[in-house]
Amino acid sequence: MKVLLVLIDGARPDAIEMLPEFEELRARSEYSGNCRTVMPSVTLPCHVSLFHSVTPERHGTTTNVYSPQVRPITGLCELLAKGGKRCGFFYDWEELRDLTRPGSLFYSYAFNGHEIGYRECDDRLTDIAIEHIAHGDVDFTFLYLGYPDDAGHRMGWMSEEYMYSIKNSLRDTLRVLDALPDEYAFIITADHGGHARAHGSDCPEDMTIPLFIGGTAVNEKMEKATILDIAPTVAELFGIAPDREWEGVSLCKRS
Ligand SMILES: [Zn+2]
Repeated sequence: MKVLLVLIDGARPDAIEMLPEFEELRARSEYSGNCRTVMPSVTLPCHVSLFHSVTPERHGTTTNVYSPQVRPITGLCELLAKGGKRCGFFYDWEELRDLTRPGSLFYSYAFNGHEIGYRECDDRLTDIAIEHIAHGDVDFTFLYLGYPDDAGHRMGWMSEEYMYSIKNSLRDTLRVLDALPDEYAFIITADHGGHARAHGSDCPEDMTIPLFIGGTAVNEKMEKATILDIAPTVAELFGIAPDREWEGVSLCKRS
């Protein structure tokens, strides 16, 4: 088993559900349009929670500035690396370099989306991820697409450009899914939503995120899933026990 995780920054489920690409994704996976993220609904805190399965209160990163953990928790990539799995990261928002500790990634590709433009970076990262997946040298691939958050801050969530950015992200995602070998399971999600030109609050537009899981059966917890459940789900797909401090639960159906 290998696993692909695609994270579309700032993607609201109600935006995704409006587009024809949604049906294509839905046909290949289980879906919840009612998954919840953590407070504050801000990019780095939400990502650290996703990769460590604890709330920002516990890991200590509460803004987009990484804060070294006082009582460190084993992150998903550290756990996978210990289990002999190779992890590859593809991202265009540089702050994400702190999601893993040194030594846990097999490789990592980063673009400066802010400088180059997120749309172009997302498309290029997708191309590079596809090449590496085809090459077969990693077990866990994390692909981060940053364009929707950028469009949301500039033009507003649900604006015309935001909707276009969601479409672009779903097209990139479908390109990777089309290239996935059979042995793959995949998860597609977001870190937070947004409203007006911002996010970070506890309003439903900010807190509700989409969740697609494909290539494996899911359990009844999928309906009440939170971002904390993603790391335990990925670990279980690899047959690795979750860290004891993790607060989320696996969404995989036990056979
Ligand atoms: Zn943002």
